[in-house]
Amino acid sequence: MEEIRIYRQSSLYTASAWLLVFGRIGIVAMLLVFALLFWSPRDGRFVHPPGWWVVLIACVGAGTFAAIWAGVALAALMKCERCGRRPTIVWDLKALRAVPRSEWQALRDQFYPPELGSGNFQCAHCKTRFQLRVPT
Ligand SMILES: [Zn+2]
Repeated sequence: MEEIRIYRQSSLYTASAWLLVFGRIGIVAMLLVFALLFWSPRDGRFVHPPGWWVVLIACVGAGTFAAIWAGVALAALMKCERCGRRPTIVWDLKALRAVPRSEWQALRDQFYPPELGSGNFQCAHCKTRFQLRVPT
C-alpha cells in the first residue's frame, strides 16, 4: 500500500475543480440558450433575437468564461508536492485517454469529477496520490 499524503493546496484544487464544472454547465446552458433562438421571431432567413435573449446569452457567456478562466488560473497556481509540476494540467492527450471508461461515465465525470467524490486525486505527471483536506 502506498501512503497517501495530504495535499497542502486542497482548497485550491477543490475551487479549481468546481469552477471548471461550473464552466461546463455554463457551456451546456449556452447551448440551451442558443436553442431558444429557434423559437424567436424570424424575418425570412434572418433571426431577430429579442432583447432579453441578448442579455441572457451575454450573462451566461460572461459567467461561463469567468468560471473557466478562473478554474484554469487556479489550476496553474497548483504545484505537485512531489514533482513540482502542475498536477491537473496535461498537454498530452494520451494521458486523458488512458483510463478506459464508458461514455456515460466519462460524461458524468465532466460534471461531477470522481476526485471530488473520493477526496483524493493523482498527479497527472508523477502519478502520486494526494488526499484532499476536508474543509473544517
Ligand atoms: Zn507530480
